[in-house]
Amino acid sequence: MNHLDDRQRAMLAEMGVRLWARPPAPARPLARSPAGTSAPAPQAPAAARLEAHPLAAPAAHPAPAPAPLPAPPRQAPPASPAKAALPSPPPTPEPPVRAPRPAGVDTMDWPALEAAVADCHACGLCEKRRHTVFGVGARQADWMVIGEAPGEQEDRQGQPFVGQAGKLLDAMLAATGLSRHAPAPAGAAGASAEPQPVYIANVLKCRPPGNRNPQPEEVAQCEPYLRRQVALVQPRVILAMGRFAVQSLLQTTEPIGRLRGRVHQYAGVPVIVTYHPAYLLRNLPDKAKAWQDLCLAREIMNSHLRAASVAPENQKR
Ligand code: SF4
Repeated sequence: MNHLDDRQRAMLAEMGVRLWARPPAPARPLARSPAGTSAPAPQAPAAARLEAHPLAAPAAHPAPAPAPLPAPPRQAPPASPAKAALPSPPPTPEPPVRAPRPAGVDTMDWPALEAAVADCHACGLCEKRRHTVFGVGARQADWMVIGEAPGEQEDRQGQPFVGQAGKLLDAMLAATGLSRHAPAPAGAAGASAEPQPVYIANVLKCRPPGNRNPQPEEVAQCEPYLRRQVALVQPRVILAMGRFAVQSLLQTTEPIGRLRGRVHQYAGVPVIVTYHPAYLLRNLPDKAKAWQDLCLAREIMNSHLRAASVAPENQKR
């Protein structure tokens, strides 16, 4: 009856004829085609298809914008990996542990004594030193030169009296007929045209930082090494060079100017006092005084040699 138009429907209603309208067909499952393929489902009305695909809704009816989502609660940012991975600062180097001076220094031989000094941590000067400065020259010599303490170059090279002061000392020794490089005599002591050997050491074996004056406790700790060196070398005369060396050896506070020209003693050995070559480089007029001191030391040595020639049994070597 769907073919009746509105006018015909109105006439039939006036005649009491009820019209039966075919209900809409329910949705059916896909029927299989005879060939076993799915038959296409009946097409839904266009409006229904549009509602089923809202994304395809015409632009004239845009979907209402969704309500904005509430902002998530702020959270503390995670720790920056860069900060977390920051390397810890390098550890501050520990100063060397102080250790007592080894026992038995006064009976050590040369190798043991040199090894003891090289490994010594008996005073604070061990903390900044590059090298210990043990001594140089012939270990059996009639002459011994004793200076104060290593300077920067001595600390670098591990040798006493290097640099300009060392060159001046070598010139002074050469003028006196001595050399730090001369071999020890094999026979008896005596006058010789060859330079005579000399052994050179310092009161302190380690450099005071910044070339400051040594402290009394540093001298007290180091002095046994020097005393043992003197005992092993057995010099006939000692040249003490510089105020600090002189005052340390002689246990005095008198200035060099008042100690010069006399014969002092250290461990039973005659000591002649003179200026340090580094001082003489800055005070050239005092070189003449230093020459007088060397002449006095030579005079003492010659008197030893004369006595030895008169009484051969007194010869040491
Ligand atoms: S100065 Fe002498 S006592 Fe001090 S650490 Fe050096 S060698 Fe040892």
